[in-house]
Amino acid sequence: MQTSPSTQKSADPGVMFLTAEELLNWSRSSSLWPLTFGLACCAIEMMGAMTSSYDLERFGIFPRPSPRQADIMIISGTVTYKMADRIRRLYEQMAEPRYVISMGSCANCGGPYWQHGYHVVKGVDRIIPVDVYVPGCPPRPEALIDGFLKLQEKIRTEHPLFNK
Ligand code: SF4
Repeated sequence: MQTSPSTQKSADPGVMFLTAEELLNWSRSSSLWPLTFGLACCAIEMMGAMTSSYDLERFGIFPRPSPRQADIMIISGTVTYKMADRIRRLYEQMAEPRYVISMGSCANCGGPYWQHGYHVVKGVDRIIPVDVYVPGCPPRPEALIDGFLKLQEKIRTEHPLFNK
């Protein structure tokens, strides 16, 4: 278990002291259930990250098919204006606290379509708030895993008992 500065060690190596909030944050960050939202080629790398070769479940990351069971949405691929309403509706169906990982250049800023793609939203953060941006076209599965680790770090600094 990753410790925070306020975590104290005891003389017994099997015992450590931490606040209720630190325990809560550790459990939340160690049990991330993403709603996967594959929209284009980046989705292939996202699916690759879910395979046994990368073993996302070792981090407690377990994909879910329903927004009502998920606390993270991974947007991987090209966000078109036609899909924008669906993305927002699914995001609103997720319980709070909820998080968003934007995976790849298209989701981050429009990617190759940023200038002439009249049908492409120039960044999913124009529709829903984004917590972590994963760069690349497409990002490798390792980059998505790094995005999850960054999100875990962010969750560990939150204050869920005091409304953040
Ligand atoms: S960022 Fe690149 S790989 Fe990903 S969906 Fe866009 S064009 Fe495809």
